[in-house]
Amino acid sequence: MTGIQTQHFALAHFPVQNGCLEIGGIPLTRLVQRVGRTPFYAYDRKKITERIQLLRRSLPEDIHIHYAMKANPMPAVVQHLAGLVDGIDVASAGEMRIALDTTMPAEHISFAGPGKTEHELSSAIAAGIVLNIESERELMLIARLADRLGIRPNIAIRINPDFELKSSGMKMGGGPKQFGIDAELAPGLLAQIGRLDLNFIGFHIFSGSQNLKVEAIQETQEKTFQLGLKLAEYAPSPVRMLNIGGGFGIPYFPGEKALDIKVIGQNLKDLLPSVKQQLPQARVVIELGRYIVAEAGIYVCRIIERKQSRGKIFLITDGGLHHHLAATGNFGQVIRKNYPVLIGNKAHNTPKETVSVVGPLCTPLDLLAEQMEMAQAEENDFVVVLQSGAYGLTASPTAFLGHPEPLEILV
Ligand SMILES: *Cc1c(COP(=O)(O)O)cnc(C)c1O
Repeated sequence: MTGIQTQHFALAHFPVQNGCLEIGGIPLTRLVQRVGRTPFYAYDRKKITERIQLLRRSLPEDIHIHYAMKANPMPAVVQHLAGLVDGIDVASAGEMRIALDTTMPAEHISFAGPGKTEHELSSAIAAGIVLNIESERELMLIARLADRLGIRPNIAIRINPDFELKSSGMKMGGGPKQFGIDAELAPGLLAQIGRLDLNFIGFHIFSGSQNLKVEAIQETQEKTFQLGLKLAEYAPSPVRMLNIGGGFGIPYFPGEKALDIKVIGQNLKDLLPSVKQQLPQARVVIELGRYIVAEAGIYVCRIIERKQSRGKIFLITDGGLHHHLAATGNFGQVIRKNYPVLIGNKAHNTPKETVSVVGPLCTPLDLLAEQMEMAQAEENDFVVVLQSGAYGLTASPTAFLGHPEPLEILV
């Protein structure tokens, strides 16, 4: 084990054969030949399946697992997951179309996100999916559209809780937010819903993302249940769905460790019986994006040039910020840290050196690894960025500088 392997938790995720990383059982060099060009993203089907199996084993049996598909909306990935999870959460009409192409029944697809347009809402009503209402404007618009379409829509209220998920990479609830209805305003809105011809099914309470602190997640789950139970007293009909969010993180950076999902599962097993007793008709939903797909994906690019400048080595690749914004530290990170990056065709025991890996863009932000120790690499070797299955391609500015888009494969 080198220093890097012990620092970056994720470097042991994929098997290595003859010094070459394998994904989906295929050596990386062979996979590059098959894809035909670099850069590309590759997602490992088996790893995604195993992640769902881990969740099923660890969480209470009667918890419904939803996939929040903005983490990775590649149609083949969503198709694969549709057969494994209990529902899909979408955040746009575009994502809704991909979800509706799968075998997932419409009533298990839900649509959240601020600023839904009239067009998006009327498609969603016609599709029969669950609409998570984020404002009074949306409620009134949905009621009008439903009347015009002659369809009684399934609606839930997205709540902006009066607490936040502590130590989250991204906070999405607590304080003033563009997301959801402020918890204290929910009783008024529920009364309004009772006077409209809408099929109220429950609540969606989502507080944050990329959390690696078990205690913070447990505390939030507890508060979320309490809030859900309190709001249920004002509901116009029995609560049939309580979506408690997710926020499970994965280790990206040196020193971070995987979440102990068993402990979180036990906490839910302790909390759930009393919730079930008070809301006997409610299915409890947990929605996860990153946790399901992030560790199953890699990003692969080719070294175009090995360059020295004033004593430092730069590996200049054909991939970078335009394909993988997050790995360059420009997607929500406060302090830039290195993702787990390695030379995928020299993954074993070769002499190491300290290098920076950069992309072809004319900006110093285009930095995939800064002064990181990795195998001595040559031109045409392959740089692999691990932990790249979530918020990769679709969270990146692919048009910036006009280079070709990367491919995506599921193996
Ligand atoms: C983005 C999002 C998620 C997924 O978050 P992850 O951190 O990827 O698990 C879940 N629910 C909602 C409402 C979201 O906006």
